[in-house]
Amino acid sequence: MNTPDSRALAALPSALPPRPARAVCDLSPYEATSSRDVIDARPAQVPLKLDWNESTLPPSPRALEAIEAYLRRAHHLNWYPLLHSPGLVGALSALHGLPPECFLVTNGSDDALHAICATYLNPGERVVYAAPTYQHFLVFAQQEGALLSPHVSADVFAADPDGLIAALSAAPARLCYLVSPNNPTGLVYSAEQIARVLAACPETLLIVDEAYAEFSGESCLELLYRYSNLIVTRTFSKAYGLAACRVGYVMAHPAAIADLRRVFNPKSVNALGQLAAEAALRDQEYLRWVVAQVAAGQRVAVEGLSALGLRVRPSRANFFLVEVPAPGAWVAALAEEGVYVRNRSHLPGLAGCVRVTVGSPEQMRELVARAARVGARLR
Ligand code: PLP
Repeated sequence: MNTPDSRALAALPSALPPRPARAVCDLSPYEATSSRDVIDARPAQVPLKLDWNESTLPPSPRALEAIEAYLRRAHHLNWYPLLHSPGLVGALSALHGLPPECFLVTNGSDDALHAICATYLNPGERVVYAAPTYQHFLVFAQQEGALLSPHVSADVFAADPDGLIAALSAAPARLCYLVSPNNPTGLVYSAEQIARVLAACPETLLIVDEAYAEFSGESCLELLYRYSNLIVTRTFSKAYGLAACRVGYVMAHPAAIADLRRVFNPKSVNALGQLAAEAALRDQEYLRWVVAQVAAGQRVAVEGLSALGLRVRPSRANFFLVEVPAPGAWVAALAEEGVYVRNRSHLPGLAGCVRVTVGSPEQMRELVARAARVGARLR
């Protein structure tokens, strides 16, 4: 098969297709810059891909075994996946001690955030979020024509439940989005602080995005037994190392799950992802090993980069922030060394900050060595 050349592109109609929805016309696409293309183009370099907070370690071997076993079955790829991921929901229910009716498994937690926005937001409604935070959620809210209302605390590294309550009380808000541990600040909100927000703002649905909760060991899940205006999202892309499989989930009151199911496509979680996630979930010992590796790796990175004279802000997740005098130049110079990290210095309260994903202690020693070479070059 030959790929058509530019003449084929020029042969397409010059009249533009119909305009998209009004809310979409005003959207800029999520800034999806991946280092994958650069990495693939430099096969000789040993890359340290530390830009997207993916796990730098492989998933549980049980996940790979589950995929392999599935591929050996007769109708492995020609049938649609099981609807609503029943095996995985059963395993999640047992792990978290919540009834199966409280779960919705999604195509990554991005898909969960998308479904929540599509289910709950009417055009013109207000969405409050604690900024700076995970940007992709904002695109999903804007797609529904929502009005975004960021709440930036005086200190973006300190929990501010009172500030959030004040922002929510200033005008009616349909949704509030809080990430804990927050990407990229690492800020963790305690269950008690979250409970205060839930109690003060019963009309607002509070989304707590716990994409990194396996690392921090802290969760607000227990609050689902006390508050029906809480919705929690999780992912298999981080601590479970299954980003390529695209599996996430929602935990909420059964009535909220039923409402989400009105818009959700139950075929959207692929068969391999369902099986891999269930197998990984059942291997909690491996998860504990990954979390311990990341904690040890973070200690190595913090110590090594601090010794180079850089200010490091560690987190209870699999990333940290490092403050550098010229973030753009530093990120570009590290990429030359095969280290891919993410410049976050344009976000509120994060002047000079670059986000770095944490890997194993060995990988972090390599990071420090390459950062030292960059430091010497930029001096
Ligand atoms: N939520 C947060 C806070 C994230 O940082 C990310 C990814 O970086 C996601 C959600 C998306 O995760 P998933 O791969 O499950 O869509």
